[in-house]
Amino acid sequence: SQAAPAVARAIVQLGGTVHQNCAARGIETEGGRLCGVLTESGTIRTKAAVLAGGAWASSFCRQFGFRFPQASIRSSILSVSPGAGGLPDALHTAKISATRRGDGGYTLAISGRGRVDVTPQQLRFASQFVPMFLKRWRSLAPGGLQGVRSGHETLQRWRLDRPTPMERMRILDP
Ligand SMILES: Cc1cc2nc3c(=O)[nH]c(=O)nc-3n(C[C@H](O)[C@H](O)[C@H](O)COP(=O)(O)OP(=O)(O)OC[C@H]3O[C@@H](n4cnc5c(N)ncnc54)[C@H](O)[C@@H]3O)c2cc1C
Repeated sequence: SQAAPAVARAIVQLGGTVHQNCAARGIETEGGRLCGVLTESGTIRTKAAVLAGGAWASSFCRQFGFRFPQASIRSSILSVSPGAGGLPDALHTAKISATRRGDGGYTLAISGRGRVDVTPQQLRFASQFVPMFLKRWRSLAPGGLQGVRSGHETLQRWRLDRPTPMERMRILDP
């Protein structure tokens, strides 16, 4: 909760601008090099861009022909109220993982436990991820249709003049 505002302030101090709630839809190239990022609010002219789209990164790369193998797993976590004493800020054991939040509480999870939604993208990159899923089979369970519904693993090529799947579900609510 403190890192993102600090990064935003640093960008502004260095002469940059920060655009929130502004989805990137694609990129523009000139002679094979990047010359702009197309967003829902217009084009940002630039020669350099960083793609940090989280769960959306692979489907975004697919729009311009980059193969970026990625698999999403859904996990359940517990939010523990402030007051628990004696725990370090970050703890990872074979059984549990805990991270201290800004409010003094903890986020607690069973280490490695998750659900794998079968999506077109999971199937596409199966050869890369199935060996790891098999090693972890005791902690993993098949998921449901959430991954398909949320659209972040779509194989679709989207149009740049229409809302993209990410704009329909901007926050992947676990
Ligand atoms: C409920 C929850 C609790 C968690 N708790 C912990 C924890 O306690 N400890 C821990 O280590 N990890 C935790 N994690 C995991 C951690 O949050 C992720 O691993 C981490 O945030 C991934 O970082 P990222 O920068 O790759 O992606 P993200 O943080 O997901 O950032 C990607 C960003 O890109 C934006 N974006 C995507 N597509 C576009 C587009 N086309 N245009 C514009 N913007 C776009 C998204 O809106 C998002 O803001 C938790 C995750 C969840 C869901």
